[in-house]
Amino acid sequence: MTDEPHAIIVGAGFAGLSAVGGLRKAGVRVTMIDKNLYSTFQPLLYQVATGGLNPGDIAYPIGGFTARRRTRYTRGDLVDVDTDGRRIKLADGREFGYDYLVIATGVAANYFGVKGAEENTLGLYTRVDALRLRDHIMNGFEWLSDDPDGGRELTITVVGGGATGVELAGTLGELRRDVLRATFPDVKPDRVHIRLIEMAPALLLPFHPKLREYARKQLAARGVDIRLNTKILEVTPDRVLIGDGQSLPTDLTVWTGGVAAPQAAAGWGLPQGKNGRILVGPDLRVQGSDRIFAAGDIALEPDEPSPQLAQPALQEGRHAAAQIARLVRGEQTQPFRYHDKGIMATIGRNSAVVQLARGARITGTLAWLAWLGLHLLYLLGYRNRIATLINLSWRYIAWGHGGGVIVGDEPMEALHASAPAHAGPPPAGSAPAGDGTGDQQALRQAE
Ligand SMILES: Cc1cc2nc3c(=O)[nH]c(=O)nc-3n(C[C@H](O)[C@H](O)[C@H](O)COP(=O)(O)OP(=O)(O)OC[C@H]3O[C@@H](n4cnc5c(N)ncnc54)[C@H](O)[C@@H]3O)c2cc1C
Repeated sequence: MTDEPHAIIVGAGFAGLSAVGGLRKAGVRVTMIDKNLYSTFQPLLYQVATGGLNPGDIAYPIGGFTARRRTRYTRGDLVDVDTDGRRIKLADGREFGYDYLVIATGVAANYFGVKGAEENTLGLYTRVDALRLRDHIMNGFEWLSDDPDGGRELTITVVGGGATGVELAGTLGELRRDVLRATFPDVKPDRVHIRLIEMAPALLLPFHPKLREYARKQLAARGVDIRLNTKILEVTPDRVLIGDGQSLPTDLTVWTGGVAAPQAAAGWGLPQGKNGRILVGPDLRVQGSDRIFAAGDIALEPDEPSPQLAQPALQEGRHAAAQIARLVRGEQTQPFRYHDKGIMATIGRNSAVVQLARGARITGTLAWLAWLGLHLLYLLGYRNRIATLINLSWRYIAWGHGGGVIVGDEPMEALHASAPAHAGPPPAGSAPAGDGTGDQQALRQAE
């Protein structure tokens, strides 16, 4: 044991990792806790989901990060915070005492109470989500190519016209146009339908109207069926019911419609605001607490809410660490000020929108190169950067020539009875048929 004050950071995302350096410099002993062994670079999840990147490219081992900073890392899932006793509890029953606590757990999907959405859609928040989606997409293409009559059609519905929905829909449009021809040559692109549904009257709401219009045109040019002003009432396994009473057929529905605190946050005993986010004061201390901070997507300062993006998370993590250092020195804390550097989103190859904080706007190839460069810069680890550069270059230079896409495995589950999966789980006790894929599925389900 040492006399150093002990800080626990829960969540090794942008906010949590950016808090480590400042705490160590201030002589604080740090324990990092995350439920995964790796930190996920969420902005490139859609590339994994569409077969452009390998899952390892966007994941960095947390232990490797913490070891170089003389910080302890342990894998665990936060379930309870004892504010008075200054202890936290993990799902496996372990307890840890702290002098200071930083909650940086990020958020999860918000289904806004839409009936059937949670059960019948795929998400895009974790690496597992991205792999699951990739397997369903690739399997869908194979299902089309497996059809001797050529009558099958595949409809992918993306819900949410924010940056994630736009990026995913744009890349799916390119997959249909380029990859199908090269990888599944017997499938005509017009048998694949990509639909993007957004409740608001425009895509990419935080962007300037000219950038929104650019993105809309770019998506339309990639064959995406864009439905604005469209409220989703219900999602069933094979239909999306929308506000005007229409029932749209769908084979895969992807939910990128919004975020909220993970359900587990309700058990932490900390004050929660809109969408379950943890309420903090101007210095990022959790309201009503002296020693607990929240940073990143999970934190909500009600008077000056930060956007739920990587930059605010990075800045808030650093700020929380700096405030703990001040408290350790017996100084007063300072309020957090977000330095807005701008926002960007990509639609596909040579197509992106960039809006700088001072108002400058860029579109097209220059914006796309800026998007690419910035994402490479913020990825953790040289190996990941190099692998991502190679894989994305390969994707955008060579994917029309076959081999440009990373195909997956058969999905672990069929999404619905008529869904494009070759085999659902075999009935109990039955022998797997044909090529043994049933075997493989049974094995994977048993894992
Ligand atoms: C698909 C997608 C694309 C995005 N694209 C962009 C983009 O292009 N640009 C941009 O600026 N932002 C983008 N964002 C948003 C950005 O990724 C987030 O704002 C950012 O990751 C928030 O950082 P964070 O540290 O708060 O949380 P996260 O990065 O989500 O990290 C949270 C960590 O907490 C861990 N955790 C969660 N619950 C627990 C628990 N109970 N116990 C222990 N550990 C836990 C998780 O495993 C995770 O490692 C995107 C988000 C998504 C989902």
